[in-house]
Amino acid sequence: MVKNSYNPFETAQKQFDRAADMLELDQATRDLLRNPIREFHFSIPIRMDDSQMKVFRGFRVQHNDARGPAKGGLRFHPQETIDTVRALSMWMTWKTAVADIPLGGGKGGVICDPHNLSQIEQERLCRGWVRQVFKNIGPSVDVPAPDVMTNPQHMLWMLDEYETLRGEKLPGFITGKPVGMGGSLGRKEATGYGVIITVREALKELNISPSDTLASVQGFGNVSQYAIELYEQLGGKVVCVSSWNQEDQTSYSFRKKEGVDLKELRSVTNPFGGIDKQKVQELGYEVLPGEAWLEQEVDILIPAALENQITGDNAEKMSKRVKIIAEGANGPTTPDADKVINKRNIFIVPDFLANAGGVTCSYFEQVQSNMNYFWERDDVLSRLDVKMTAAFIAVSDFARSNKLNMRDAAYVISVNRVAQACKDRGWV
Ligand code: GLU
Repeated sequence: MVKNSYNPFETAQKQFDRAADMLELDQATRDLLRNPIREFHFSIPIRMDDSQMKVFRGFRVQHNDARGPAKGGLRFHPQETIDTVRALSMWMTWKTAVADIPLGGGKGGVICDPHNLSQIEQERLCRGWVRQVFKNIGPSVDVPAPDVMTNPQHMLWMLDEYETLRGEKLPGFITGKPVGMGGSLGRKEATGYGVIITVREALKELNISPSDTLASVQGFGNVSQYAIELYEQLGGKVVCVSSWNQEDQTSYSFRKKEGVDLKELRSVTNPFGGIDKQKVQELGYEVLPGEAWLEQEVDILIPAALENQITGDNAEKMSKRVKIIAEGANGPTTPDADKVINKRNIFIVPDFLANAGGVTCSYFEQVQSNMNYFWERDDVLSRLDVKMTAAFIAVSDFARSNKLNMRDAAYVISVNRVAQACKDRGWV
């Protein structure tokens, strides 16, 4: 899915430069924010189930911590690169800033394919990652969380290793933990629900009722599944979903014009969000090429898979009906595709605003973990709604009054907040 020639860090830097120009930032602030403040690269030797040793490459990048401890997920992906992690860490800085939570931006990764690792091997990898970097991360330094192909069980193994090394209980070290083991109710729904809270607000602005809309979604992982759930509760209909097929090493789109059935799709999906092509066909879904999700006659597109998916090459294939793109994934749209989106006047809810629900709920989880007092699910979700709605309205008001698109407006707000924090601390 990730095209190798594409470098997400270059995209992230281009987007930052644009915001820096709009804000007329001085050179020192640009130099500071254009690159991560700190990065860690390391090898993780693991004993595999066949008793052979295998060495994996791991990373943790802290882009900026002026507003609070670095915060961001950890990805397991065979095509992981340091530049991908750098880009993602920078996007986390803007995400925590736009959500206005007291955290910075970080990201981690391991080059591996968890499809091919046993549970025990995955546990060793999680523990090995923590052993390599535990001196440089922690509840008041840098707080990891789940991301692509990592889950609450991985977070718990990491917490256990961290607490063992430190010799004390420190549940605020990591978020996205299992409920009952320091996790927050609502955390697993938070990112997908947050995406739809922003879609709801965008529809209000465009004066469209959700029940008059159709959507197409890329990916069927955690973000996508909960986005579909809330969107359907609002009355919308999803007609197409795409997902990665591990066997064929490609993706497919699955279409049902009457509307997909979430429960049915979940019943034929593996833990990594891969929908079984054979079984879904038996359920009456059309099987289409991977990119077909983008070409559907829908009002709303939700890319919720990986970076670099809507590009200069395929953006023209979007139907003229598309009115909103809500980026559930990080970095799904390239600057070339943005030109097409802007020309067509499509309302874009940029990634670091649209998918900020996950980290916002992670922040709630940290607060709960540190207080050792846990809130009810409704309480968590209504606080999430308040935060996401406020972030959306701040960006859309700013966009309107300054005649900017939503991405540029979100960038200007976030970069300005972070630059100000750096200045206030005397860093630049
Ligand atoms: N991995 C998620 C993201 O990209 C969540 C990060 C977090 O909860 O810290 O926003």
